[in-house]
Amino acid sequence: MHDVVIIGSGCAGNTAAIYTARANLKPLVVLGHEPGGQLSITSLVENFPGFPEGVNGPDLVENMKKQAEAFGAEYMHGAVGEADLSKAPFRLNIDGEWRETRTLIIASGASARWLGLPNEQKLIGRGVSSCATCDGAFYRDRKIMVIGGGDSAMEEANFLTRFGSEVTLVHRRENFRASKIMLERARSNPKVKFLNNTVVEDVHDVGQNMVTAVRLHNLVTDQTWEQEVDGFFVAIGHIPNTKPFRGQLDLDDEGYIVTHGGARTNIPGVFHAGDVQDRNYRQAITAAGAGCMAAIEVERYLEAEGH
Ligand SMILES: Cc1cc2nc3c(=O)[nH]c(=O)nc-3n(C[C@H](O)[C@H](O)[C@H](O)COP(=O)(O)OP(=O)(O)OC[C@H]3O[C@@H](n4cnc5c(N)ncnc54)[C@H](O)[C@@H]3O)c2cc1C
Repeated sequence: MHDVVIIGSGCAGNTAAIYTARANLKPLVVLGHEPGGQLSITSLVENFPGFPEGVNGPDLVENMKKQAEAFGAEYMHGAVGEADLSKAPFRLNIDGEWRETRTLIIASGASARWLGLPNEQKLIGRGVSSCATCDGAFYRDRKIMVIGGGDSAMEEANFLTRFGSEVTLVHRRENFRASKIMLERARSNPKVKFLNNTVVEDVHDVGQNMVTAVRLHNLVTDQTWEQEVDGFFVAIGHIPNTKPFRGQLDLDDEGYIVTHGGARTNIPGVFHAGDVQDRNYRQAITAAGAGCMAAIEVERYLEAEGH
């Protein structure tokens, strides 16, 4: 029986592990299919406080893990496939093995949706991004492309005009899902150019290990062409990793955990941390802060329960 199991080893899970380990709760952290979380697939992180020269994303999360382990956190490989949260202790199926825990911190993140282009994954952190706030500043006076037709695509395109010499917004349909106000804002921005009815076929250049161009295809004219680009931002949404908790936890219509204040879910003893609940900020530092909040809630909960 564990006092606390933490699901996920990104910024949120690792920070929760540091705090709960220092509180002597011997947390068990389930690494998941992406050990280190989203920062493990990026390169330079320039906005995490405390690193004036920036810090390599994978190094940052690995250091957090080492810090938690130094205080006694245990990490295990595997992913939670099934959960029984109907009563405490909660039960988790981790790659076929059931574990029991008095409290649970869900820090399983939200995965960015990608386009599925042949070269896309190879160029993530090398010009391909899913986060304008994170990576926009790398593309000062460069050519930027944003893919998507919803509010987040409009928001990212507008934001990126602060940096780019031009921002091209590519959308596969004629009409947009985005709200009228967001669409108008992008349309009235002289730096945003629209390419409707157009899909991206691939992004180049894996040989140079950086984005240099994309191949585009207009679905109405059937024309295909190459266009030079330096920063390629995919803004087609995120998928919160909450499948094992469906039907047990309060989730919103997109599957994000609904907060019941602080780090609390609708189930006492089950807490949330990071992007799995936060559809708004989605940053390393906010996820780390949320991990700290969840850990403190766990300490208080266990103390109140007499453990
Ligand atoms: C390419 C890229 C660049 C970025 N750059 C920056 C940046 O420069 N600055 C910044 O502040 N933010 C950046 N971000 C955003 C930042 O990475 C996220 O906000 C942050 O990682 C969220 O942390 P998290 O711990 O909530 O989730 P994640 O980092 O997504 O971690 C989730 C963890 O949960 C695990 N998991 C999922 N499902 C299960 C399961 N069923 N069982 C067990 N484990 C599971 C995963 O394996 C993973 O370890 C970037 C994101 C991307 C994609």
